[in-house]
Amino acid sequence: MCGVFGVFGHPEAANIAYLGLHALQHRGQESAGIVSADEDRLYVHRSMGLVQRCFSERDLALMPGRTAIGQVRYSTSGRSDLHDAQPLAIDYREGSLAVAHNGNLTNQEQLRRRLEQRGSIFQTSGDTEAIVHLIAISQAETLPERVVDALGQVEGAYSLLLMNERSMIAVRDPMGFRPLCLGLLPPQGRGGGKRRSAYVVASEPAAFDLIGAELLRDIDPGEMVVIDKTGLVSSRPFDSSPRRMCIFEYVYFARPDSCFGGANVYQVRKTCGRQLIEEHPVAKASAEDTVVVPVPDSGLPAAIGLAHHAGLPFEMGLIRSHYVGRTFIEPSQSIRHFGVKLKLNPNSGALAGKRVIVVDDSIVRGTTSRKLVGMLRGAGASEVHVRISSPPTTWPCYYGIDTPTRAELIAASHSVEEIRRYLRADSLGYLSLDGLVQAVHDTEVEANTSEISPPIDGYCHACFSGKYPVPFAQSGRPRQLRLVNA
Ligand code: AMP
Repeated sequence: MCGVFGVFGHPEAANIAYLGLHALQHRGQESAGIVSADEDRLYVHRSMGLVQRCFSERDLALMPGRTAIGQVRYSTSGRSDLHDAQPLAIDYREGSLAVAHNGNLTNQEQLRRRLEQRGSIFQTSGDTEAIVHLIAISQAETLPERVVDALGQVEGAYSLLLMNERSMIAVRDPMGFRPLCLGLLPPQGRGGGKRRSAYVVASEPAAFDLIGAELLRDIDPGEMVVIDKTGLVSSRPFDSSPRRMCIFEYVYFARPDSCFGGANVYQVRKTCGRQLIEEHPVAKASAEDTVVVPVPDSGLPAAIGLAHHAGLPFEMGLIRSHYVGRTFIEPSQSIRHFGVKLKLNPNSGALAGKRVIVVDDSIVRGTTSRKLVGMLRGAGASEVHVRISSPPTTWPCYYGIDTPTRAELIAASHSVEEIRRYLRADSLGYLSLDGLVQAVHDTEVEANTSEISPPIDGYCHACFSGKYPVPFAQSGRPRQLRLVNA
């Protein structure tokens, strides 16, 4: 998964991009990069690791210009090394170009094969480079036209930022799998009246809050926004498709303080919690002996909604260490088990003698929940009831969320009762797909200010339903080159 951020028309563009990426760090922790541009050239800095580690003050001071785009990356296509860190930046016959991508192309193998057959040489193992090649070989006249020409040949998920020395372009694929938002950063400091506001674009509007930018709106599925010194031009150059925004962004991925289509992610998650306890009540739960415990941070808002709706006390029965990354990214099963303990510790003061309803957003392999049930019992819980604020994850994502293969997804091969037994829980309840879709849709409808109501089927939920909106090709031969000094 990735996060992208761009700014056009700001005297400290690279610094602003740094702050924007910082706010999007949850979307990717493997590498970070910024490309800035003045009128002469592009300045590129990419590195492995967290944003804070990737850029020193000096690095940013070496990146002049009023335009910058950046990306934080967690590889869902290609390898995890510096070769594949983004933004990609190239020189070609029309000048320089930089690209930052969130999403996964579903026809990348065919595109690469076709391009390699006509002589293209690839530097990266990811899918984004195919877009760069297609832009470079396009015979169209202007950059926006070349971008449209290239994107007309790709399929799948892309929220893209592109820039050269003169302009920045933001595009969202016709189904709008991944989010992309437009904002305005007012001029700061003295003499502000004479200076112009800067446009900003980000995967999530939470990135605007940090830099003091105002959210203007979501970039629509299939919309292309071109920003240059004459202003902003929006167009819809692709055939229209039904919107299929990723529902897992609402469940887990996005920050709770982000809004998409006006719908606040935190509110969606609270509604999911309410709906979850309606669908799966815990028998004889009472405020005297039952507590609702979130798995922090992923289960927090749903647990709040659930506890409030059920009239049960909400307790921090699991305390999170903030100094470890997400356990999901640990490489092997044995280390992953250890990782849960590194991250979460049971708080016996809130658990001893209690019937515990523990709430998380999802179960992937089952490792986290199994470990947690044992830890909660060890800290004195008399019963443990697991509630999950999304349906069973049964299918991998091909549109940019990192999920393991189907064989590793516990719900792909086990019934809910089998999973309950594996977790050693007293009960287990998942939110239904209808309940999830309704929770997202209701929040969107509530926030909707336009006359057209958001469609109830406007979401991709392939990870829960196996209904893939865009067909995909299974990946072929692995790429061999590996940069070892990254
Ligand atoms: P597991 O232990 O494999 O069942 O993983 C479940 C935990 O991973 C839950 O706490 C989720 O919040 C979290 N999770 C779910 N999907 C992802 C993802 N794509 N990347 C990172 N963490 C995830």
